Amino acid sequence: MEEKTTGELLCERVMKKSKSVYDTADEKTLCEINAFASEYMSFNDASKTEREAVTFAVEAAKAAGYTEFDRKKKYGAGDKIYEINRNSSIILAHIGKKDLEEGINLTAAHIDCPRIDLKQNPVYENSGLCYFKTHYYGGIKKYQWTAMPLSLHGVIVRKDGEKVTVKIGEDAGDPLFTITDLLPHLARNQMTKTLAEAFTGEDLNVLVGSVPFKDDKASEKVKLNILSILFEKYGITEEDFVSAELAMVPAQKCCDIGFDRALIGGYGHDDRSNSFAALRALLDIKETPEKTAVVILTDKEEIGSTGNTGLQAAYFENFIKSICRAHGKDEVICFKNSKCLSADVAVCLDPNFPDVVEAANCGKLHYGGVMAKYTGARGKSDTSDASAETVAYFRRIFDENNVSWQTGELGKTDMGGGGTVAQYLAHLDIDVVDFGVGVLSMHAPFEVISKADLYMTYKAFEAFYKN
Ligand code: MN
Ligand code: MN
Repeated sequence: MEEKTTGELLCERVMKKSKSVYDTADEKTLCEINAFASEYMSFNDASKTEREAVTFAVEAAKAAGYTEFDRKKKYGAGDKIYEINRNSSIILAHIGKKDLEEGINLTAAHIDCPRIDLKQNPVYENSGLCYFKTHYYGGIKKYQWTAMPLSLHGVIVRKDGEKVTVKIGEDAGDPLFTITDLLPHLARNQMTKTLAEAFTGEDLNVLVGSVPFKDDKASEKVKLNILSILFEKYGITEEDFVSAELAMVPAQKCCDIGFDRALIGGYGHDDRSNSFAALRALLDIKETPEKTAVVILTDKEEIGSTGNTGLQAAYFENFIKSICRAHGKDEVICFKNSKCLSADVAVCLDPNFPDVVEAANCGKLHYGGVMAKYTGARGKSDTSDASAETVAYFRRIFDENNVSWQTGELGKTDMGGGGTVAQYLAHLDIDVVDFGVGVLSMHAPFEVISKADLYMTYKAFEAFYKN
């Protein structure tokens, strides 16, 4: 073999190398990548709302020996507990051998996704058709949600407190719903509008019925017929929509993308991909961990982490306080010594839109989980900006455990931006950095991720919990 030149040797020593997982993974790893992707796809299909994701998480946790947290109880090393917050977010913890004052290892992901919520007075009839009025949730490009099949998910809580769970459009044979768009033949005016103007929030009306109730005297007969069907099926009246949380979500299920099947198309990879990776990494811990391992699957991230189920609320802080106090430990010291991976999706380089990212500092599909030292906008507004020490800590752990990872930020400087829950955990005095799967078509009804990146993100969380 020819000897390497000084330049080649120096290059190996000092230049940063990055490789696609598909350039380096062995057969065994490739099998694991595909198996993990299948499990994730089942989770995603079953969890199109935060409530459904909580239900999934509880069942998986129970199967792994987790029990519901009792604030009055003192837990010891090896105990596994979970606490549900108003059916919409959940904390799971595997109590470690070390003192809580040595800190916890936390992964925080969100299980809410952009969607089309129903208004509280949604049902109306127009020109012989019945519709639901909606109010979109999260940052969406409205035109993307038209002319596609939608399914209806959520709960209706009747005045007597009885809860009706709704899930229509996921089983074979179920009816679906849709927001109609204008035919191109008659879209001359529409086509002159900007993407933001062409479809407004109030235009997102969902078609839900078309057959009139048979009666000569009744008015709004199509609406009446729909309400009659809903009354028969769910025992609800029009008034009950007032106390309901119903959402239209893409009916499409997860699927492989590409002839080589290495990508997953589906709804809500942001942030169910990281949620599943975090959940599985926690549940898969076999031995009692050194430090207490915790996962938060939170709600309301897409609207600013607000409300009592979002991470600006006290629920996580209170959970840790309760565990610490039961043990006579100081939660202030616990938080101070804790570390967190804020597990949210990252931007990936999309060759169709190269201008919005800066290639050297952008995630790439198949190059592993993306670590973002900071997110935010403009001059790093609204971000926690992890310390160099924190990044070094995770960098070492990932490399020691053969986790493929990369660094990335949210697009070019001043191109736009966005935040994650990282800043709210940083406010608790926790060392936190963003880490997660890279996504194409983020916030679209149909997003794309890499199976390899998903698996490597799981491996990253697994490595974190081992330390
Ligand atoms: Mn997200
Ligand atoms: Mn998002």
